[in-house]
Amino acid sequence: MDEKLRGKSILVGRDALQNSLLVAVEGTGTATVAGTLGVPASVSRCKPSEGMAHCKISVSQSGALVVTNMKSANVTCVDGVEVASKHIDEKSTLQLGKDRYGVSVAAILQTATEVVNGRARRAATVGERMRNTPQTTVGGMVAGQAGAAPAAKPVAAAAQTGAASIAHLKRVWDNYHDEEIKIRKQQKEIGLLSSVPMIFTLGSGSLAAIAKASNWSDSIFTVTMVMSVVGFLLMLYGFYRRYNDKSIEEIEELKEKFESEYVCPKCRHFLGYKRFTLLQQDKSCVYCKTPFSS
Ligand SMILES: [Zn+2]
Repeated sequence: MDEKLRGKSILVGRDALQNSLLVAVEGTGTATVAGTLGVPASVSRCKPSEGMAHCKISVSQSGALVVTNMKSANVTCVDGVEVASKHIDEKSTLQLGKDRYGVSVAAILQTATEVVNGRARRAATVGERMRNTPQTTVGGMVAGQAGAAPAAKPVAAAAQTGAASIAHLKRVWDNYHDEEIKIRKQQKEIGLLSSVPMIFTLGSGSLAAIAKASNWSDSIFTVTMVMSVVGFLLMLYGFYRRYNDKSIEEIEELKEKFESEYVCPKCRHFLGYKRFTLLQQDKSCVYCKTPFSS
């Protein structure tokens, strides 16, 4: 246990950019646990700026460790047993999320130690990984997770010219665009749903009036009554759908995810709500001037 970790809180969660496991030491910085690519989405994001994470490891002044699940929906297990908060030691293994993603406490502490000593790797870009090979490896990988960590893909051309490949941003843009359209369609559907009951109500009212004026048989009233009831039920359903409409939150979450992923591979500056095809026309990053290749 490094002295510098005493009295600190360590936030642990998913890094959305690379889907690796991100460790944030309170008031210091962040680093990803080496070899933890492919962390499933059931592990909650680690957002130190908002104090959010999947779980938190508190280190006391005496060096005792307590892990706390940050949100009941997260699910944190210690050596296979689900816990809300529990004393752990360096030999414990955590399983995170409903997919029970495994990571050893030793690996987390090792990464946190690197953070407090300023030796941590920032979430490295593909280009940086090329230059930094061999990548430092933090020990303590849990068996069964090793397969989830593919080796860094060599992008020789980009590394040689100092250019940063933005090819992967096409998928980021496409995902964002598709999701946004899906949410907007839902909103439209809910909007339409609220006008349908009106048609039924007005329709049945008009029909009743005409039937009365023209001395139609009484059976027409059964029809108008059914129409009114159907209209009423549709209205209730419309209310229910509106009440449960999470599209505003969904759009916010989508934007937040997009803004963290649609970034310059070099300086990590958000590149704006700009179509990928337009982005390709920019020859370099407007913020750090790194040339783009795709
Ligand atoms: Zn840049």
